[in-house]
Amino acid sequence: MFIDTHTHLYAEEFISDIDEVIKKAINAGVEKFFLPNIDASSIDVMHALCNKYPVQCFPMMGLHPCSVKENYLEELATAYNLLKTKKYLAVGEIGIDLYWDKTFYTQQADVFTQQINWALEFDLPIVIHCRSAFDKIYEILTGFKKLPKGIFHCFSGNEEQANKIIEATNFKLGIGGVLTFKNSGLDKAIANIDLKHLVLETDSPYLAPIPYRGKRNESSYIRIIAAKLAEVKNCSISDVGNITTANAKEVFGWD
Ligand SMILES: [Zn+2]
Repeated sequence: MFIDTHTHLYAEEFISDIDEVIKKAINAGVEKFFLPNIDASSIDVMHALCNKYPVQCFPMMGLHPCSVKENYLEELATAYNLLKTKKYLAVGEIGIDLYWDKTFYTQQADVFTQQINWALEFDLPIVIHCRSAFDKIYEILTGFKKLPKGIFHCFSGNEEQANKIIEATNFKLGIGGVLTFKNSGLDKAIANIDLKHLVLETDSPYLAPIPYRGKRNESSYIRIIAAKLAEVKNCSISDVGNITTANAKEVFGWD
């Protein structure tokens, strides 16, 4: 009924009770969990979880913009070799983040571009992390003659930016706990955006929805996000579940 299209369930926050967390999510109707990679340090734990839950958990491969540091060439080589040899759902998460640190801005942009090329090479969608970098990401995306399918994970822009993405790329917008935050403005930004452009995500363990804001997020909270989205779009929760699941399927095409 629901897909958590972006969740870091392999994170250390879940080490002690991951089986419970997954069981709780399945009981809440969350059928699948898509796991974005961060960098070399997350690969083994991510694969271990996917091996343990092969029906529910699916890995992505890519280098997160916040992990683009001095050793980024080595990191890229590791990710690329894995993309060549193993099956992944997407290239992710990739993008540009200028919120915390601008030191590697140029490299972040290059690494992002490089990984979009990989997605085209391996015929995979991309999952984009965009923070304080909308214009640059938009510029890079629109510089491509052909783009893979994709998702703007944790979309947090305004209505104009949402429309720009959809018109230029037809990417989906990932909607998570931020939608439940007072004054986030996300409800207004997506008020006129058709549900067919949206997918659900938690970004666990981060960005827990209200009433759990500030606490550990987990995939069962997809239901809280779906309920809020149903309210914003004036439809039923099951409509939200069916449509966003179909949207996720359109992007990731898992079997
Ligand atoms: Zn993430």
